[in-house]
Amino acid sequence: MKNALSLPFASDHCFIGGVWREGALSDRLPLLDPSTAQPLCEIARGSTADIDAAVAAAKVAHEGPWGRSTALERGRVLAKLGQLILEHTEQLARLEACDVGKPLTQARADALALARYLEFYAGAADKIHGETLPYLDGYTVYTLREPHGVTGHIIPWNYPMQIIGRSVGAALTMGNTCVLKPAEQACLTALMFAELARQAGLPDGVLNVVPGLGEEAGAALAAHPQINHISFTGSVSVGAKIQAGAAPNIVPVTLELGGKSPQLIFDDADIDAAIPFLINAGIQNAGQTCSASSRLLVQRGVYVQVVEKLSARYSALRVGPALEDFDVGPLISQAQQALVESFIAQASDLAAPVRGAITDHASNNGFYFAPALYTDVPAGHILAQQEIFGPVQVVIPFDDEQQAVDIANGTDFGLVASVWSAHGGRQMRLAKALKAGQIFINNYGAGGGVELPFGGIGKSGHGREKGFEALYGFSTLKTVAAHHG
Ligand code: ADP
Repeated sequence: MKNALSLPFASDHCFIGGVWREGALSDRLPLLDPSTAQPLCEIARGSTADIDAAVAAAKVAHEGPWGRSTALERGRVLAKLGQLILEHTEQLARLEACDVGKPLTQARADALALARYLEFYAGAADKIHGETLPYLDGYTVYTLREPHGVTGHIIPWNYPMQIIGRSVGAALTMGNTCVLKPAEQACLTALMFAELARQAGLPDGVLNVVPGLGEEAGAALAAHPQINHISFTGSVSVGAKIQAGAAPNIVPVTLELGGKSPQLIFDDADIDAAIPFLINAGIQNAGQTCSASSRLLVQRGVYVQVVEKLSARYSALRVGPALEDFDVGPLISQAQQALVESFIAQASDLAAPVRGAITDHASNNGFYFAPALYTDVPAGHILAQQEIFGPVQVVIPFDDEQQAVDIANGTDFGLVASVWSAHGGRQMRLAKALKAGQIFINNYGAGGGVELPFGGIGKSGHGREKGFEALYGFSTLKTVAAHHG
C-alpha cells in the first residue's frame, strides 16, 4: 500500500470498520501541494454510501466492546496512540507541510500538539467522573457521565492534526466512536492518524475516516440520523448549514467558526515583549488560523513606536515553500489566494501596507501572498471587520480604555482577545469586559494550550473544546436517584 509519497496507507481509500477500502464511487479528488500547485496524490471522493457505512461501523463499535470499555482501557489505547504520533512526528510534519503548505517548524509543532492532546486525554480518561448529590432523607443521588454514542467530526484544512487531537481525542476518551470527514484540500494526516490508531490497537469501527467534498460527504454526515453529536470547525456559512442539517435529529452541535481577534496594546505595555506575539499571531499558518489575531489596537502614546517596530519586522518577513521553512508559506489554494487578494482590492482607501517579500524560492505556480500590515485603519473598515484568513493585519489607534473595549467588541466574532498592559486592575477589568472565549494577558495563545478550554461566542460559534471542558461536551449526564428509605 505505497504510493509516490511513500504513505503507509492507501491515500485514495476510506478507513471504515478498521479496514482501508475504496469509496463507493470510483471518483477521486486531486490533492495539490500549495507550495507548487503540483498534484500530491488522489483522495477518495467519499459519498453518502460511504458515510452510511462509516456510521454503521461506528454504531456497531459503540454497541460492542468500546461502548463497555473502562476508562483505564481507553486511556491506555490513547496513550499508545500518542506515543506512535511522537514516533512519527517527522513523517506527519512533512505530510502536513506538503498538504497544507505549512512551514515545517509549524507543522512539527502541530504533530507534537496532536501527541500532547492524546497524552492529556489519556491521563484524563479515568479522572473525569460524576458526583453524589445531597438530597432528601432516604435517597442516594449521583450522576453518571456517559458517551453520546456515534460522533461526527467535520474538520477544516488549516490545522488537521490539532483539530483531530482536540475533537476526536476528547470524543474517544469519553467512550464515543467517531466518523471523521477531513477537508478535501488537505487530509493526509487525518488518514495517517487512522493508520496509527489501527496500529495502536483501537478496535475496528471506533474511528472511521471518509474524505470527500463538503457538500457531499460532509453534508451527509451532518444530517445523518444515526449521529449523536456533531463537531465542526470551519467557516460561519458552513457552520450554519451543519447546524441546520443536524437540527431535525435534535443532536448537540459544537461549532468553532473563526474570528477577528484583537490584541490591545496600552501605553504601559512592555512593547518589546509584545511585538513577536503581535506579528506571529497574525502570520502563523499564513494567517489561516481561526484564532489569528488580525486586529492590533494600539494606544496613542505608543502608537508611532509600535507601528515602527511592527513595520520593521514585517518588511523582513520572507515567504516561500513549506519544506524550506520560511516565516510564511503559501495559502492553501488558488481560491484562497483570490479571496485574500479581493480583500486587498477593497483597501485602496487605506495607506499602502508594509509587506513581507516572496522569495525566489517560491514557485510561480504556488499560492503565495506577501503578508500585509495596514496602519491607521478605521475600526469599521471591511479589513477590520471581516475574517480574511490570510496574513493581513490592521493597526487601529485608540485613546482610552473604554474606546479600546468598544472597538475590540465591535465585530460579529468573539474567539480570542489579549491585553498588553502592566496595570493589574486594567487587566482584570478587561478580562471581564472583552467578549471572547479566551482572554490572554501579556501573551497570546499561551503555547497552544491543550489544557485550556477554547471556543467562541457570537459568530465564532458555541461549545468548548480542549481541556476537561471538551470531555463534558463529549458526554451526557445521567442523574440516578435511588430511594432506599
Ligand atoms: P474553510 O472556509 O476553512 O475552507 P469550510 O467551512 O468551507 O472551511 O470547510 C470546513 C469543512 O467543512 C471541510 O471539511 C469541508 O469539506 C466541510 N464542508 C464544506 N461545506 C459543507 C457542507 N455544506 N456540509 C458539511 N460540511 C461541509
